Amino acid sequence: MSSSQHIDNPDVVLIGSGVMSATLGAVLKNLQPDLKIQLYEVTEELAQESSNGWHNAGTGHAGICELSYTSDRGADGEVDVTKAIEIFEQFEQSKYFWGYAVRNGMIDDPKKFLNPLPHIAFVYGQEQVDFLKSRHAGMSAHHFFSSMEYTDDRETIRDWAPLLLAGRDDTPIAATKMDRGTDVNFGALSELLVEWLGQQDGCGYALRHRVTDLTRTPEGWAVEVKDNKTGRKFTNQTKFVFIGAGGGSLPLLQKSGIAESKGFRRIPYRRPMARVSTNRNS
Ligand SMILES: Cc1cc2nc3c(=O)[nH]c(=O)nc-3n(C[C@H](O)[C@H](O)[C@H](O)COP(=O)(O)OP(=O)(O)OC[C@H]3O[C@@H](n4cnc5c(N)ncnc54)[C@H](O)[C@@H]3O)c2cc1C
Repeated sequence: MSSSQHIDNPDVVLIGSGVMSATLGAVLKNLQPDLKIQLYEVTEELAQESSNGWHNAGTGHAGICELSYTSDRGADGEVDVTKAIEIFEQFEQSKYFWGYAVRNGMIDDPKKFLNPLPHIAFVYGQEQVDFLKSRHAGMSAHHFFSSMEYTDDRETIRDWAPLLLAGRDDTPIAATKMDRGTDVNFGALSELLVEWLGQQDGCGYALRHRVTDLTRTPEGWAVEVKDNKTGRKFTNQTKFVFIGAGGGSLPLLQKSGIAESKGFRRIPYRRPMARVSTNRNS
């Protein structure tokens, strides 16, 4: 279902209804309430791609359990936790915005998209155990992560997450746990924010509408759109475009011709033929 209004010649066109466009639209409308915004989404429902609750892990990325944010070693050979601290701070800012959205009636019930959930990081093998121990030492020294617990005791890990021990051999293992983690359904959040946006004066969203081209004009951009339900093609003029099209962003960015679009390419994709293999390396 699209919003009841379609905005011609808006100030901003948002492409895609995932968490990026949804968040930007909601922030812009709050900062400048007279802004006219039109969002286009090619699928039949809001936020069905990466942001959908079934298509990502759903951890609020606060740097707590995402080990990739602490993959570097510092000059002293210990794990460098700088990136995790940055990520935690960014996630706190997201929470401030969501709190604002709830207090101001943009979102009726925060439980629809956000719930507290302990975050556990788990490793196995002595090298990884040493890594986690160093990571924990660095992180728990900062007040963001001071409540993070570390253990290499199997019974404690069993207590935290019993299935991690089921059928496991005696390879060394370790884990950290922090109760202050969050579970976020980014798809539900996107839906709530886009629906709110569609109810505001001068704003609308249209489903089953694919943006097919972008052309620079003296005033901003001519956005080519195809209504997939009726087949109608039309152009909407706007001052600003945000390409929040997830995996569909790159072709649109390249069509825009802006300097920032240079230097990227997509890896050619060939649909694999169905096959059955008994060799895991084949
Ligand atoms: C397996 C996996 C696990 C992840 N885990 C986490 C996690 O735990 N925590 C976390 O924070 N992040 C996680 N992420 C990342 C996160 O899901 C994405 O970064 C985020 O959802 C991207 O949002 P988006 O709005 O950019 O894109 P999307 O949510 O993909 O939205 C893009 C939208 O644009 C639409 N669209 C595309 N082309 C067009 C067009 N031409 N015209 C109109 N509409 C168009 C699409 O239909 C889609 O609805 C994970 C991602 C993956 C793949």
